Formats: sequence, structure tokens, C-alpha cells
Amino acid sequence: MVNQKGGVGKTTTAINLSAALAIAGHRCLLVDMDPQCNATTALDCSPTNGHALIGETQLTETIVETSTPSLSIVPGSRTFHDVDKLATAGDTETAQVRRHLDSVIEQYDFILIDCPPSVGALTQAALTASTEVLMPIQCEYFAMEGLTQLIQTIKKVIVATDGRLTFGGILLTMYEPHLELTHEVDEEVRDFFGDIVFDSVVPRDVSLCESPSHGQTVFQYAPRSRGAFAYTQLCMEVLQRD
Ligand code: ADP
Ligand code: MG
Repeated sequence: MVNQKGGVGKTTTAINLSAALAIAGHRCLLVDMDPQCNATTALDCSPTNGHALIGETQLTETIVETSTPSLSIVPGSRTFHDVDKLATAGDTETAQVRRHLDSVIEQYDFILIDCPPSVGALTQAALTASTEVLMPIQCEYFAMEGLTQLIQTIKKVIVATDGRLTFGGILLTMYEPHLELTHEVDEEVRDFFGDIVFDSVVPRDVSLCESPSHGQTVFQYAPRSRGAFAYTQLCMEVLQRD
């Protein structure tokens, strides 16, 4: 989940898409790469002292089961030393991130990485280890502003990884169908990105912002909510594209 803007729904999508995939019977690993550790705490887990993707410890020893069956998490770390190490990641650290993820890749059907709101080295290390980018875009004024730099970065990684990384999809979030603005952003984004924009959109729904404070996914907190429905639809679309 990548977008250099904060508050666009990366973490919400990382949590609830991975939960939906897990509920659909897929083994999922959510990797929290954001030093804010929002995904970790939202799933009622604790941040670690030192990020598992950087240390020498086997990744399997750091992985924690969540209360959703089949959904595990690599908790985030707030330790600045580590964040710095990741954030200034040269080739060695980037390779280490990828090696750690490769060591568990066989155990999961999907590995989702929640990135911090930046195009810095943390995000670049995540992109280098990934096969697909999912970019949430919030339906607001200036939704596409600043995306040029991010797209350039993504393109560089695509070239550097010989096409291992592809554009997985763009997701419109905080969609408000009664607002003219939402439809303007929808049209602009679909004109610009074309088919890679998911048909599914995520409406603004209070269940999605309340569930993290209860340490729950939206499926646990409000299974009949519009938010739960939207992430179920997105999950089905991801599985159809896969
Ligand atoms: P990011 O990870 O990109 O910074 P978050 O997923 O943390 O964004 O979302 C930012 C804030 O907006 C959070 O408080 C979250 O609960 C809320 N939020 C995210 N998606 C929605 C939505 N579809 N409807 C309502 N609130 C949302
Ligand atoms: Mg976040």
C-alpha cells in the first residue's frame, strides 16, 4: 500500500483487505513498515524494539498471529535507530528486507506491506521487495497532486527489478457518492490511470475509523457495515485479477 500522502487509507486498506483475504481462506501476512505502527496497534498487537526486516533474527520468530484466523503480522517498530537504518537503506538493507520476506514467502498466499506516507527509502525498500503496488487515492481536492514523483519512483523500481514489480491497482477511498467532487476525482483518476483503477470504491464510513480503536478489523467490529462490504468487494476483485 503506497501513497506519499498521509491519511488516504493505506493502513485501513492494508488491515481490511488482508483480513478479507484471510476470511476468504487465504494465508495472509501483513507487514507494518510504518514507524507510526498504526496497522500493528489496530490489530491489537504491540510494536517491537527493532524492525524484524532489518535484524538477523529469523522473520518467523517475529511474526504474530492476530485474532483473525489466517492473518499474521510482522509488527512495526518505533525504534529510531532501526527506522533510520531502514530509511537510509542502501542496497544491503534493501536486499535484507527482500531476503527476510523471501524466507517466508512459501508460507503465505498474500503478503501486504503497509508503507509510511513518504517516497523515502522505506517505501523504496518495500517496493523493491514487492510484485505489485496498490495505491489508495482519497477523493478530495488535489487527490492527484504530488503523485508524479511517486509514479517516477515506482517506474524506477519497475526498471531496476526487471519488471518484477507491476502496478496492481488504484483504489478510490473515502468515496462520497452524493458529492460532485467525488465524481470529479473519480473521472480524473480513471481518465489518467485507466483499467488499473479498481471498480470497487471504499465509501467514507465511520466503522472504518472506529474499528482500529477497538483493536479489530471492520469485519469483527461492524461486519454489516458499508466499509466491510466495500473491502469484501475489493477482495473479490483482487482475487479475480490474481
Ligand atoms: P494512511 O495509512 O494512508 O495514513 P489511514 O488508513 O490511517 O491512512 O486513514 C486515515 C484516517 O482516516 C484514519 O483515521 C482512518 O480510520 C480514516 N479512514 C480511512 N479510510 C476511511 C473511510 N473509508 N471512511 C472513513 N474513515 C476512513
Ligand atoms: Mg498509515
